[in-house]
Amino acid sequence: MTGDIDRVLIGADRIAETVQRLGQEIARDYQGREPYLVGILKGAVVFLADLARSVPLPLTMDFMAISSYGTSRQSTGIVKITQDLSQNIQGRDVIIVEDIVDTGLTLGYLKDLLHVREPRSLAACTLLNKPSRRKLEVHLDYVGIEIPNEFVVGYGLDYAEKYRNLPDICVLKEQVYANG
Ligand code: 5GP
Repeated sequence: MTGDIDRVLIGADRIAETVQRLGQEIARDYQGREPYLVGILKGAVVFLADLARSVPLPLTMDFMAISSYGTSRQSTGIVKITQDLSQNIQGRDVIIVEDIVDTGLTLGYLKDLLHVREPRSLAACTLLNKPSRRKLEVHLDYVGIEIPNEFVVGYGLDYAEKYRNLPDICVLKEQVYANG
């Protein structure tokens, strides 16, 4: 698996520092409240697990699964809910937790969808942000690291369902895609 990696873009130490910082920002902003963290499966699982432990507040974790990318590297813009939340979010302080915001289409769709359910507040937190690829302007409340227009894997992010367990965020060798 590590033979497929061209280079490490963001190492595990920098990821950990970033997650700590985001956790502190959330804890500061939600003092006295109980945020409802919504992780988007599967990419945000690793990030959410670490982020939740860096927020020293009572909180709820829930998950939503959507299909948008499939196994291709191009966003289709078509987003389908394949698994919904387990609880009602009306009156809750919801924070959508994403691994990466690229075109912004997925997050824009999710925000609209959850907004209709009347949460008390609705915020978005992403570990990675690729602003150069944006098709839809979507407000981000918490942003970890801005990255250039590169397709990355690791720390929850996949290519064809692989590489999610890499501790670093990496760029794959071109021939991996050629063979896939
Ligand atoms: P958007 O709708 O913002 O274009 O895309 C959001 C989703 O596309 C992310 O949650 C992620 O699943 C996928 N995605 C976007 N860029 C990358 C990337 O560089 N690597 C991986 N593995 N997935 C990406």
